[in-house]
Amino acid sequence: MAKQREMNWEAMFADRMRLSESGCLEFTGYCNPDGYGAITCRGIKHGAHRLSYLMTKGPIPDGCVVLHECDNPGCVNPDHLRAGEVADNVLDMEEKGRARKVVGSAHGQSKLDELDVRLIRSSKETGAALARQLGVTKSLVCRIRRGIGWSHVGESNVA
Ligand SMILES: [Zn+2]
Repeated sequence: MAKQREMNWEAMFADRMRLSESGCLEFTGYCNPDGYGAITCRGIKHGAHRLSYLMTKGPIPDGCVVLHECDNPGCVNPDHLRAGEVADNVLDMEEKGRARKVVGSAHGQSKLDELDVRLIRSSKETGAALARQLGVTKSLVCRIRRGIGWSHVGESNVA
């Protein structure tokens, strides 16, 4: 089983990363403004480092987030990733939302994750254009833009 994951991981990341001097495998695909890589899989965007963790080490434990021991957000080297308590991370709430999203994504029901929320909040696109791009309703985009609790949005409208 672990071997299977390993192979999938190679296929997924082989041409999207480069080895840095510090031993980090830096994601070379799309990265969000915070430097976290993102991979879109069947229309759903995943955090690249989270995907890397999931594919090589298995499910992220409940209440945990994937942390970079190397403090390099673009790194997808499984050896540099560990699951940690949410409290370990200053991005506490946002990470928690993202952790839930991956659970949701695993069931194929999740439409947005934290990367998308950040994209929505930072993008200059119209709500309608973003909604089309992300495959969600315009009203959801508008609500996220207005800053109405992302965790609330995630639980009741997306997950
Ligand atoms: Zn690293």
